[in-house]
Amino acid sequence: MKVFLAQAAGFCYGVKRACQVAFEATQTHPEGVASLGPIIHNPQMVARLAEAGLGVIEDVEAAEVGAVLIRSHGVPPGVLEEIRLRGLEIVDATCPLVKRAQKLAQSLAAEGYQVIVVGEPDHPEVKALVAWADAASTDGKGNRAVVVESKEDLVKLENIKRIGVVAQTTQLEDDYKKIVGEILGRADELKVYNTICGATARRQQSMIELAGRVDAMVVIGGRNSANTTRLYERCREIGIEAWHIETADELDSTWFAGMERVGITAGASTPDWITEEVVERLKSF
Ligand code: SF4
Repeated sequence: MKVFLAQAAGFCYGVKRACQVAFEATQTHPEGVASLGPIIHNPQMVARLAEAGLGVIEDVEAAEVGAVLIRSHGVPPGVLEEIRLRGLEIVDATCPLVKRAQKLAQSLAAEGYQVIVVGEPDHPEVKALVAWADAASTDGKGNRAVVVESKEDLVKLENIKRIGVVAQTTQLEDDYKKIVGEILGRADELKVYNTICGATARRQQSMIELAGRVDAMVVIGGRNSANTTRLYERCREIGIEAWHIETADELDSTWFAGMERVGITAGASTPDWITEEVVERLKSF
């Protein structure tokens, strides 16, 4: 059985960087460092970092360490302030692309635009983008940023003259374009920034290309990882047999009976060492 790995698979730039920052922080902070929430949606990587000494806290008040690590999708400015006020050091692993989106949301709000964030309302990155915009809002009326996930959410917008739009970095470009097209008819002035990073789209595109050349796909990544789950769902949508696993130990040789070519992809939060183990295990079948 031949095994093929999708061209774009596994850690994106921002997650890789955040994990490196985290490993370094465990070496340079003997007083202890903890991430605010699990650093990535991958239990195996979280466990490895825990062994290296990285704690996990759910809120700043619970911090019994000297430094708090900020995850790749960032936090609201109020959280950074709270960390500082408690006399703790900030180890900022916010992805630079997320930081750019935060700065744009902030400057749009400061210039008096009604900020719209296109994305998932409950995602921490989106919540932080809203908070950066709200903190910079100058209208004095508490005109909060609005999150738009689909066209239906646009009913929230009435009689707005100046609208500024940013996207959650993991949005798909086509979806973003459609929503921006709808917003266009609702504003006298519209300023749109393309804050999409492309890592998600590249992983999906590579997976689709590979799926066309193999008998089945194995999708590797945390079951709590939204982008890994989306890759698996896309496999099912295009009608290819697929399995979503977290580690090589879940593989069952009987799944691949009679197959000649199997493809592998991995979500943006899946470390390379797990993908390599899966490749080796599949080759041994
Ligand atoms: S998906 Fe893109 S924006 Fe998000 S952490 Fe990865 S590289 Fe950064």
